[in-house]
Formats: sequence, C-alpha cells, structure tokens
Amino acid sequence: METRNFGKTGLKCSLLGFGGFHLLEIDQQEASKLLNSYLDAGGSYVETAASYGDGESERKVGLAISHRRSEYMLVSKSNRRDKASFLYELNRSLKNLRTDHLDVILMHGVANRDELDQILAPGGAMEGFIEAREQGKVNFVGLSMHGQSDILIEALQRYQFDAVMATINYYDRFNFPEIENKLIPLANEQGCAIILMKPVGDGLLWRSAPVAFRYAFSQPVSVVVAGMNTREMLELDLKLAEEFKPMSEAEKESLYQDAPELGNYVCRQCDKCLPCPENINIPHIFMLEGYFDRQMRDGDVRDPAEFALRDRLRFWFGNSERAQAEYEQLAVKVDACTKCGICSERCPYGIDVVRKLHIADYKLAGREIF
Ligand code: SF4
Ligand code: SF4
Repeated sequence: METRNFGKTGLKCSLLGFGGFHLLEIDQQEASKLLNSYLDAGGSYVETAASYGDGESERKVGLAISHRRSEYMLVSKSNRRDKASFLYELNRSLKNLRTDHLDVILMHGVANRDELDQILAPGGAMEGFIEAREQGKVNFVGLSMHGQSDILIEALQRYQFDAVMATINYYDRFNFPEIENKLIPLANEQGCAIILMKPVGDGLLWRSAPVAFRYAFSQPVSVVVAGMNTREMLELDLKLAEEFKPMSEAEKESLYQDAPELGNYVCRQCDKCLPCPENINIPHIFMLEGYFDRQMRDGDVRDPAEFALRDRLRFWFGNSERAQAEYEQLAVKVDACTKCGICSERCPYGIDVVRKLHIADYKLAGREIF
C-alpha cells in the first residue's frame, strides 16, 4: 500500500487509515482480529477518540495492538478545551491505549470561534498540549470538524497546527465546497497534514465504495480514514487502497455528472444557472441547504432502508441552526422568485431549480415541508 508524508512532521503513514469509532459495534475479539489484520497488510495509521464510547474504542485499540506500538502512527482526539481537563483526558487516553505516547492529538470537533478561542487562550487546551509534548506524551497537534470548515481555516491562520481533519467525499464536496476550495490549498501551503474522513459519506455512498475510495485517495491528503467493523469491509478497503490509481480531472467530472447519489437534486455549484433576473444567489442558497441537511431530503420516494439512512445522516453534522441564521441574513431570498424558469433551463444537471429553491426555502426558514 502507498505511504504518504504526514505533512511536514517527518512521519509517514499508509494511505488507508483505520478509524476507531465503529469498534464500538463489535466485541474485543473481533476488534483485535481486524486491527491486527490491518497492520499485517501494511496499514500504519490508527485513530480513535477519548469520547468514542467514553474510552471504550481506545481500550479496544490498546488491548488489540499495543504490543505492536512501533508499527503504527497512533492518533486520538480530545474535546476538552481547557488545560487541566485536556491533560486529565490525555493521561486517561494513554492508559486506555496502553502506551506512553500518542503521535498526534486532535482537538475534537471544534465547532465555533468560542471553542477555538478557549483552546488558544491562556489556560486553554493548547497549553496542555505544549506541556504534554515537553513530557514526551504526544508529539503533534491538530483539529477536526465535521462539515463546515471556516473555523478550521481560521485556526490555521492563527496557529501553526500540524494536522487538520475534514470531511471529504464526492457527495459532501457540494455541501461544503470551501473544504476543497480553501482548506485543502491552505493546509498544503502550510505543510499541515490533511486527514480525510468520511470517504463514503457516513455510509451514504456504500453502494459506490470503489469509486468513493478512489475519489478520496486521489485527494492531496496524507491519509484516508475509514471505520471498518467487518472482515469483508476491511478486505475491500485494503484492496481498493492497494489497487489505487489516481482519478483524472475528466473522470472526476464524469463522476459529478453521473453519480446516482447526486442525481438531479444535489447542486454541483457550477453557477451556470446565473444570473437570476431577481438577483437570487441560487448556488449560495443550495450551499446553505447543504449545511442544513446535506441536501438529503429531496422529496423523492425511496425504499425504507435508504430513507432511514438519509434521515439518520442528514443532521449528523449539526450545522442546521447556523445555516438558518445565515439564510435569515440574505438580502434576497426565495420569495423574490417569479418562477420565470430560466435557471432550470440552464442547469446542466437536470435540476428542477425552482422546485428545489422552494424546498430549500422551507428548510432554511424553519418551515416543515415533508
Ligand atoms: S425562476 Fe426564480 S430563481 Fe430562477 S431565474 Fe427565475 S426568478 Fe431567478
Ligand atoms: S446550474 Fe444547477 S448545479 Fe449549477 S449552480 Fe445552478 S442549480 Fe447548481
């Protein structure tokens, strides 16, 4: 399997990383088998978090592979924002993981500026990291966030973080376009490692796993982290990593055109429907719809399993209130639409733009439509 540089830390890791969240769904025996098979196959990046099962995922990792500690890069996460509780939790993580040091600690799920301010303030978690690094308990620091990336971008502008973890897949790229447009270029420019999470969109793209992983592996990132809780899943993901060939730009365009999960509902942010004679910023409103519920409720009739999956995932990232607040601030909203239909005629993806705008308006204005 390909190995990549982990930013400018000097560390190297395998292209496929093992994410520890789904270890909560299996017993220790199975977790041990999967983690050891992953290492046997050349995997060298294992990631978990203190909050996954209140330490249960960390304990499973520790029991399974602490005897092979030199073979992998170990990453955990903390959602504590002050120095004292960050250090308390880090010590607990080390005990759970049966190791004396982490390679990287990520400030987990930094959702807003208040949290970033707390982390960077005197007495904040960064001071805890610096003290722990001096004691040899952890070497590098980063941040993670689901969905929106503006706080991650601001964080990189305020502090020289070693790593950043973000949601990147061929579906959510249209809900959170600033990740590929701004965050990735900035992180790469700074030599900050990028950890890609959710290559199959939390399971939404499971039927398209080969192309979803190929898309993820093709990104300029250090590692693609996937949760794996069955042998079949592990074997498939390893095979896709071993056989990986980068996608060309033409192949990506063709994926954006044809992907069934995008269909004729998800806005590709191409701007071809503009200008609107009423000055409605159509792609921006659809991006806010992406923040709100990842454009997952589209009014189509779906089989019960697909409906349940989408219903579970659509508010997974918790950005909906912020999307509604930003919509409220727009000077021109959907109520300015005269339904002239020019936008729908222009859309190369067959989106019924007028209908979708009204669905987005109902969601973002806090009205119930379905
Ligand atoms: S249908 Fe509405 S949104 Fe579309 S171009 Fe006409 S006024 Fe603008
Ligand atoms: S043309 Fe279609 S895909 Fe492109 S921005 Fe407009 S609505 Fe979105």
